[in-house]
Amino acid sequence: MSECIFCQIIAGDIPSNRVAESDAAYAFTDINPHAPVHVLVVPKIHVESADHLTTEQASVMGDMILLAQEVADVSGIRESGYRLIMNVGPDAWMSVPHLHLHVLGGQRLAGHLG
Ligand code: AMP
Ligand code: ZN
Repeated sequence: MSECIFCQIIAGDIPSNRVAESDAAYAFTDINPHAPVHVLVVPKIHVESADHLTTEQASVMGDMILLAQEVADVSGIRESGYRLIMNVGPDAWMSVPHLHLHVLGGQRLAGHLG
């Protein structure tokens, strides 16, 4: 079994609250939500972070954005808007080393970053 927690979630070995799914990506609710809607979109292949993405893997980023659109749709926040966040490395507090996109919305978010 993979030691990666998100690979285990994708495999169904760790339970998750599924929001949407495509051939290339999986979306599930964040266990520690920072907004009324807080969903994680992860590629089904293991990529450590955005900084590790190779040219051959580059299309998974588009797949993740397309699934994020569907997440926004089914979560009812496509009109009101949402924030996509991708943390990379220690200064960004990346805590799970499997590429993931945070989809945040459902309220007026802070008007600044960082
Ligand atoms: P990051 O800090 O950008 O690496 O984001 C990792 C996110 O994964 C955090 O927001 C955690 O709350 C979330 N997380 C960690 N374990 C789980 C889990 N088992 N199910 C759902 N979300 C998780
Ligand atoms: Zn993984």
